[in-house]
Amino acid sequence: MQVVCPSCGTRNRVPDDRLADAAQCGRCGEPLMAPQPVALDDGGFDAFVAGTELPVLVDFWADWCGPCKLMAPQFAAAAAQLPLVRFVKVDTEAAPRASLRHRVRSIPTMVLFLGGREIARRSGAMPAGEIVNWLRQQLGARWA
Ligand code: ZN
Repeated sequence: MQVVCPSCGTRNRVPDDRLADAAQCGRCGEPLMAPQPVALDDGGFDAFVAGTELPVLVDFWADWCGPCKLMAPQFAAAAAQLPLVRFVKVDTEAAPRASLRHRVRSIPTMVLFLGGREIARRSGAMPAGEIVNWLRQQLGARWA
């Protein structure tokens, strides 16, 4: 399984049966599969989504958005429950290109990618249990 390092952008190959272990980036040594959201900017976003074969759930948010802040701990709690889904946070102020290209018109918006393609999206804040249930519906037993 190919996984892009959120810290340095290097593409790593991780055997499927080792994904649950504490896989580290071959280049920078940072964890590849930390069970918590990672923040990406315009510089790293495209390469991460395109190069990661695992599902990627992106939370588009902004600092001025109250519902976004309320949802942040829920998003993190969902990340801890689904270790094979990569949870990414994109600050729409800091990453305007990614937000524009993916037509994010309101925040928070969550966009789910698989194999570099968008397969689903939801707008509005959701509690952790709902995020997990939604991902299970979209992804099925292999990933969630
Ligand atoms: Zn790295």
